[in-house]
Amino acid sequence: MLKHFFLAGASLLTAVAVLAQNNQKMKPEDTEVYQPVPPVVTPGSTPQDAPSDAVILFDGKNLDQWRMTNDTTQPANWTVADGILTVKKKGSGNIETKQRFMDYQLHIEWRIPSNIQGTGQARGNSGVFLASTGKGDGGYEMQVLDCYNNTTYTNGQTAAIYKQSVPLANACKKPGDWQTYDIVWTAPRFNDDGSLKSAARVTAFHNGVLVQNNYELTGQTLYIGHPSYKAHGASPIKLQAHGDSSEPISFRNIWVRPL
Ligand code: MG
Repeated sequence: MLKHFFLAGASLLTAVAVLAQNNQKMKPEDTEVYQPVPPVVTPGSTPQDAPSDAVILFDGKNLDQWRMTNDTTQPANWTVADGILTVKKKGSGNIETKQRFMDYQLHIEWRIPSNIQGTGQARGNSGVFLASTGKGDGGYEMQVLDCYNNTTYTNGQTAAIYKQSVPLANACKKPGDWQTYDIVWTAPRFNDDGSLKSAARVTAFHNGVLVQNNYELTGQTLYIGHPSYKAHGASPIKLQAHGDSSEPISFRNIWVRPL
């Protein structure tokens, strides 16, 4: 027994010694990688400006890239004025991109009105659905809300993955100021039988502050009940027309880089 132990130990030592010897024989170039070469992308003059390879989803002019969620044959009818997109709360609904995406980097800017009223979830509520999976609020929501001086359940505050992941920080600016989300989304993958192959993951910055760090989602956002997955493929990105009665919030400068 003891003899076997020593033999096993000796062979392990031999293996380590061989590995060390191999490393000693190696040159620096042996661990240098040259292919594939990452594509050259010219950054914008400020980090917020779209880089050269971005898909522009809203540049202040029109909603050509968007449609109504509940009737995808209809053009998006939210208000565009002065380079800004404002949620239409009454007689409208959520809007989503015509284009579908899998994995991507998304930049979006949003502003809570300076005269915002209301408390809790009824204070500038909107949302970015990182993948829309159907009508209404189907999909995976990153919450948009005024939490500058407003408390609510933490997994429903600004930059939460709604009712799943509390943000790592509250980086809210005051109402009236423009704010940014920069989001890296990895779409979930499904097997042919519809079962989950790999979960969705999200990393996000709110005003440049890390708020979600490679969080692995447990399923689609649900207002009531626990999240679960339902198979889907590439999906639109969706913005929420929340039903609360506070002043509608605005968006601008929306772009995405499919990965
Ligand atoms: Mg919301």
